[in-house]
Amino acid sequence: MPHVISTLCTREGDCVEVCPVDCIVPGDKNDPVWGKYFYIDPDTCIDCGACVPVCPPQAIFPLEELPPGHEADAEMNARYFREGPGYWDFNLEEQRRPR
Ligand code: SF4
Ligand code: SF4
Repeated sequence: MPHVISTLCTREGDCVEVCPVDCIVPGDKNDPVWGKYFYIDPDTCIDCGACVPVCPPQAIFPLEELPPGHEADAEMNARYFREGPGYWDFNLEEQRRPR
């Protein structure tokens, strides 16, 4: 059961810095389809939970604890890796929301 980034994600990028298996990837901010959020690879996530407390908008949930209305977000994360761009050589500072 992986963790899931929901559509509450505001691209802060803090989650990427703490994931021990580097399975969190930003959709390229210039990509019209995938550019709104970051995504967790469900096949690689080890469910450590480290990303949850560092996410400013509290956008990350264990799969089984997704809030009502966000059930489809799990499929969105999986689809990013299976059918979308997947892993790429991104620059986190360029991809995260300026603060
Ligand atoms: S820390 Fe939260 S808001 Fe920031 S990129 Fe990760 S999931 Fe999105
Ligand atoms: S739960 Fe752990 S392994 Fe999964 S995305 Fe978050 S930090 Fe990475």
